[in-house]
Amino acid sequence: MLHLEQLSLNIPDTTKPRVVVIGGGFGAVNLTKYLPDDQFQVVMLSKQHYYGFWPLLYQVATAGLEPESIAEPIRKLFDDRNDFHFRFVRVTAINPAAKTVTTLIGDVQYDYLVIATGTKSNYFGNEQIKHNSFGLKNLTDAVNLRSQLLQSFEQANLTKDPDQRQSLLNIVIAGAGPTGVELAGSLAEMRRHVLPRDYPGLDFRQMNIYLVDGLDRVLPPLSPESSKNTHQYLEELGVIIKLNKLVSSYDGETVLFKDGEQIRTQTLVWAAGVAGATVEGLPAESLERGRYLVNHFNQVLGFEDIFAIGDIALMKSEKWPKGHPQVAQPALQQGRLLGKNLTRERRNQAWEAFEYFDKGSLAIVGRARAVADLPGNRSLKGFIAWVAWLFVHIYYLIGFRSKLIVMTNWLYRLFTYQRGTRIIIQPYVQPGDKVGEEFVRQQTVD
Ligand SMILES: Cc1cc2nc3c(=O)[nH]c(=O)nc-3n(C[C@H](O)[C@H](O)[C@H](O)COP(=O)(O)OP(=O)(O)OC[C@H]3O[C@@H](n4cnc5c(N)ncnc54)[C@H](O)[C@@H]3O)c2cc1C
Repeated sequence: MLHLEQLSLNIPDTTKPRVVVIGGGFGAVNLTKYLPDDQFQVVMLSKQHYYGFWPLLYQVATAGLEPESIAEPIRKLFDDRNDFHFRFVRVTAINPAAKTVTTLIGDVQYDYLVIATGTKSNYFGNEQIKHNSFGLKNLTDAVNLRSQLLQSFEQANLTKDPDQRQSLLNIVIAGAGPTGVELAGSLAEMRRHVLPRDYPGLDFRQMNIYLVDGLDRVLPPLSPESSKNTHQYLEELGVIIKLNKLVSSYDGETVLFKDGEQIRTQTLVWAAGVAGATVEGLPAESLERGRYLVNHFNQVLGFEDIFAIGDIALMKSEKWPKGHPQVAQPALQQGRLLGKNLTRERRNQAWEAFEYFDKGSLAIVGRARAVADLPGNRSLKGFIAWVAWLFVHIYYLIGFRSKLIVMTNWLYRLFTYQRGTRIIIQPYVQPGDKVGEEFVRQQTVD
């Protein structure tokens, strides 16, 4: 059995500039694609060894897709490169004076450092909620939530106690942003088409899906018109929407709201906010609201060789005074431009300043029920928005394998109304396996 002190990063020396990238998400992967292999050594350090397509994560949690269908191992993405070195490890500190980063198993020197660490769930300091609720930020979360939901139905089918059955059949989703809305819609369709066939002894009219939010409308990042249409779709599917409502505590049994209302449930899903996944070591002045302040070249305030891209970067401009939205496109676009700019530097060419190209927003509620805000203040809804959603998501999924599996799953579901992955899988680590424990902890510590 291995112990952490027996491990080392083992990065080969190089004469090329070394770009150390923290993270393996949208920004980090797109950046790497634009750094020529013959001009840079790229060292990617990430606490997840796969690249996940998070917009489809809720479908894994609701048994619509297999986890592997929306993720690719990072090593596979870059297996055609000679000087790319991936290490599955959490970065714990940045040391700008020494130009190194610290990981659990040693330090690594950088010429350029790119922070692409994204966000983590924000529990607003409430440790009890953090401990008892289910997050939805990575594949481990999604498989855990899927197991929890399926296990709740199994137990509801067995219990003789009607109060306990009700508690097992109540699902509360905190946060009516895209994740909360898409999850609620998917669960509602599951309740309508899948669960009654699986559990003929249970009355699914008793299953309540609550979607709660502290704001006064669902999908606040989208236009008021798309919000209104989404609200209507959710109600048509029987989701109970509670707005202007703040969760104050959850002990694993009862959700207590600020206004005193209580809901008994075994499942609270926390999709109520995110905070930047910052790393210790940079001065407080380079951070604002949990994001690194960057200029239009993504350089972190006060540094020429440290960059931040994607969700963790705060780039203010006249058009975006509060920074860009924390969605995939800014991360992809900033990654691409930074890769090109670092390459330009090698050729003594001038750098290009970043300008965000907003391609619009899409959200799905269920079959033929979706909304889209397009550039130019145009909105779409219903079947046409749903078809657009399907095509956009297939287009952006990485790799032919994922596209094929997801399309096959969706076609199967379209015609049968079935979901193929209704399997309960519990995470398990051998007692005494310190490395295994540490890696599971890395995934779940946020
Ligand atoms: C459930 C869900 C649904 C979403 N749906 C949509 C959608 O429909 N459309 C859309 O545009 N956007 C959506 N988003 C947002 C989108 O996924 C993010 O905006 C995007 O992933 C940001 O890219 P990033 O590279 O900044 O960060 P991420 O893609 O989050 O990548 C961060 C990476 O950093 C790693 N990391 C973090 N801290 C450390 C550390 N200390 N050491 C080492 N590695 C670290 C993580 O493991 C991860 O690999 C969704 C997000 C979630 C969670």
